[in-house]
Amino acid sequence: MLHRPLIQHCKACGAAVAYRLPDDGDTKERAICTACHTIHYENPLNVVGTVPVWGDQVLLCRRNIEPRRGLWTLPAGFMELDETTAAGALRETIEEAGAHVEMGGLYTVLNLRKVGQVHLFYLATLTDTEFDPGPETMEVGLFSETDLPWHELAFRTVKVTLQRYFADRAQGGRFDVHCADIE
Ligand code: ZN
Repeated sequence: MLHRPLIQHCKACGAAVAYRLPDDGDTKERAICTACHTIHYENPLNVVGTVPVWGDQVLLCRRNIEPRRGLWTLPAGFMELDETTAAGALRETIEEAGAHVEMGGLYTVLNLRKVGQVHLFYLATLTDTEFDPGPETMEVGLFSETDLPWHELAFRTVKVTLQRYFADRAQGGRFDVHCADIE
C-alpha cells in the first residue's frame, strides 16, 4: 500500500474515480473516471537538492514549514516541470538558503518507493558565506561532521546523503554517485 494520497476526483470532469485495472492489459490498478473514463497515471515525483560545502562544513537549513518544522535539512524541494534536475537543485538552494554556490556533480539518487518519490542531491561549493534564508527557512547554519545536528535532521535521505558525504571525505574525497533504496 502506498503512503500517499489517492486521487478521488477526475482531473478532466470532476466525477469520482475508481481504482481498477484498465482494459488495455495494464497490470497496475489506475484511478479511472467513472464518468468520462479518463485514466489518471500516477508516477514518482523528483525532489532535488544540494550538499553545499564550505571547507569542512556543510550548509543546512532549519525548516520553517511543515512537515518537520524546526528540524534541519539540506536545501531541496520538488522539481518543476520546466527545469532540469541540476537547475531545480540550484533554485531550491537559492530559495531556501539564499546561498551562492557553484554546482558540482550528481551525488545521491535515493528511491522512496512507499512515498512515490526519488530524491537527487548534487554536490555544490559555496562561493561565500553570505546567506539570505527564504520564508521556508528559520535559519541557516554551517556544520562540520562533529557538530552537525545528526538527531535533528528532517529526512532520512538527508541523513543518508550527509553520512555518505563525510565517509567519502574521510576516505580521500572521491565522491562517486551513490544510489540506494530507502525503505
Ligand atoms: Zn472524468
